[in-house]
Parts: sequence; C-alpha cells; structure tokens
Amino acid sequence: MFHRLGGRWGAEGLDLLVPPRCAGCQGDLPAANGEALGSAATGATGVLVCPSCCRDLSHDSARCGVCGERSGASPPCEGCRRLRHRCAGLAVLGSYQGQLRTAILRCKRPSGEPLAVALAGLLVGKHRQTFTDWNVDLVVPVPMHWSRRMVRGTSAADELAVEIARRLRLPCRPALRRSVATRMQNEFPLEARRGNVANAFRVRSDVRAKTILVVDDVCTTGSTLAACCTALMVAGATTVYAAVVAKADRSPNAGDD
Ligand SMILES: [Zn+2]
Ligand SMILES: [Zn+2]
Repeated sequence: MFHRLGGRWGAEGLDLLVPPRCAGCQGDLPAANGEALGSAATGATGVLVCPSCCRDLSHDSARCGVCGERSGASPPCEGCRRLRHRCAGLAVLGSYQGQLRTAILRCKRPSGEPLAVALAGLLVGKHRQTFTDWNVDLVVPVPMHWSRRMVRGTSAADELAVEIARRLRLPCRPALRRSVATRMQNEFPLEARRGNVANAFRVRSDVRAKTILVVDDVCTTGSTLAACCTALMVAGATTVYAAVVAKADRSPNAGDD
C-alpha cells in the first residue's frame, strides 16, 4: 500500500525531490516522460515503467479475444472449444514467460505492489477500447484463500483489480470468496485442474444483473476463471469477462492457475 501513500505525496510535488524509478527494472526514468510513454505507463499513483520495460512487458502475439489462446482464428477457436464454461471474453497483456513472468512472480510479494499497479496500467492501456465495449459494472479480483493471503501478505489479483477499476472509473469489490484452500494449481496435471477449483468459489455480494470483469495475474488452463464465471453466473450476473496480465501458453512452467 506504500505506493498509494507515495502517490499522494507525489501529487503534492515530492516526486520533484526523489527522481522516479522504473517499477520494472528500477532504472532511472527519463524526465518528463509522461507524454512519451502515453497514459498506459503513467498514472496518478506516480508509478511508471521505462519505455524499454513498457515494450518488453506489453509484447505479445495475436490472441483469441474469448479464450486468450494464441490463435489466428476467430472465436470460437480450438481453445474456446476446450473450455466448456468460459468467460465471455479474456483480455491478456502477454505470454507468461521472460520478463513478464519475472514481473508477475515479484507481484506475489508485498514489495511488488508498485509493479502490479504498473502492469495493471499497461493492461488497461492495451485493452481500453475492449473494456469500454464490454460495459462492465463491477471489477472483481480472483480471491486467494485467506490462509494463503495471510502467508504472502499481498494478493496480486487484488492489487491489479483495484488499479484496473481505478483507471476504468469502475467500482471494485471482493465479490468472490475462495471457500476451500485449493492446492496450488501447478501441483496438478493440466487435466485435473478443473476438478481442483470447480467448486472453490462462493459469491458474497449482490451481483445480480451485473456485468463483471474478473481479474487475475495468470491464466493457465482457464479453469479458475471458468469456476469464477460459473459461480457469478449462478448468482445472477449477466455476463462475466476476464482480464489477466499473462496467459501461460501451454509450456511446462505454467503458473498457479
Ligand atoms: Zn524499466
Ligand atoms: Zn478462443
């Protein structure tokens, strides 16, 4: 939460005294770079990424807008067909590898919160039109079980969801609760992951007639997002979309969910 405090100080001019550093590489930021980087990399929180990190973290190839698989085909693509219950759309910043993977692993620690804010900014910058077209009413983070959250001291999904909502001027609420401490998804073979999370989520606030944007850091098989989607739809949500920083493109080093 320190970056928020820092942002308030920054807004009052303290950033003139402390030169801003890139949230990605910790390098110096070029002066007066707000214009050059565009609104994706800058924000009222004062968190910035340098042009090089901005490029590396946002790099991606074409994806299906519904399931997020790398695909030249229009939906429903091969990946869409594999997931029976899926969100109506999935916005992805990039592939879960290289610098983006390193950045996400850093976001799982409290010291990575400013980086999570920067990644959320890049994600919104890349997909702003899509988010607008989706007509979202409420942003909801994919929850961690409270016991894991306590151990880690932060939740990347929470940080991302709060910042995405702030940039889209939408409310953000923890409308989902993880009712069972599911084992880490990467402990399971791909085909067993759906069963591990299928009934893991409970809806704890009124989502009736709402269009929801569910936010997580990584999507591997899509089974976690699908389980969130199912729980929200059963509770009366109209449509559920999803946004993740990274999509694991079926590599052996797949992420948590
Ligand atoms: Zn950088
Ligand atoms: Zn697809």
